[in-house]
Amino acid sequence: MPLILRIDVDRPYGRRPLARHILSRTSSDFYFPRVAAFGYLAELRAMLEFLNEARVRSYVFFRRCTLPSQSLLDLLDAGGHQVGLHLEDSRSFSTFMDETRRLENHTGRKVFAVSKHGSGGAKFGRRHYAPYEPDKYVEWARRTSMRLFLGNLEDPTIEPEDAGGGLTVFPSAFWLEPQWRDTRNFPVSWLVEQAARQDIVTLVHPENVLSNERLTADFKMLLRTVEFRVFYE
Ligand SMILES: [Zn+2]
Repeated sequence: MPLILRIDVDRPYGRRPLARHILSRTSSDFYFPRVAAFGYLAELRAMLEFLNEARVRSYVFFRRCTLPSQSLLDLLDAGGHQVGLHLEDSRSFSTFMDETRRLENHTGRKVFAVSKHGSGGAKFGRRHYAPYEPDKYVEWARRTSMRLFLGNLEDPTIEPEDAGGGLTVFPSAFWLEPQWRDTRNFPVSWLVEQAARQDIVTLVHPENVLSNERLTADFKMLLRTVEFRVFYE
């Protein structure tokens, strides 16, 4: 069974060096122009280049402060990737709709997939609504004829569910970054073996994976070893 690659694009300017970290914080709260010279979405660009070379397709989830530039849209198209909403303001159906429309207008694409920014802990930025309430997102996704909700639970053995109306729900993911994974029971080698038996969402954040040599190596190994798929065209 192929894996499903989920890329959450959290940070417009990555984590390092420090100047880019500060730009990331600032632009997530306030307007800041998307400036390629400061490396806007540089890690996502690098990751898409790996993927396109390996012919692996993915779902890329954008926040309102990480909307893709035209050159990134071109890379997404070249690799056949799908654009998804990384929902921040999940207070109500109307804030969900507002973020969906914003992303659709910006990209010129219908958005069929949604994931939630944050798992119910800290509040990340001014617009972020912290509670994690997956039942609400599933209901909203169904109402808007989306096809896929990818949830933030951390047990990768949880199976996907058919939520009706053409919507598939994966409540959980295999988080490649070890701080969100039970690494004793679920090492990366487990994922490679289990991929033969079960559809599993593999979740990465480009700025974390590409700033760590070990994670970058794990990621590239997966691209070479395991099959990935997207669900709809
Ligand atoms: Zn996020």
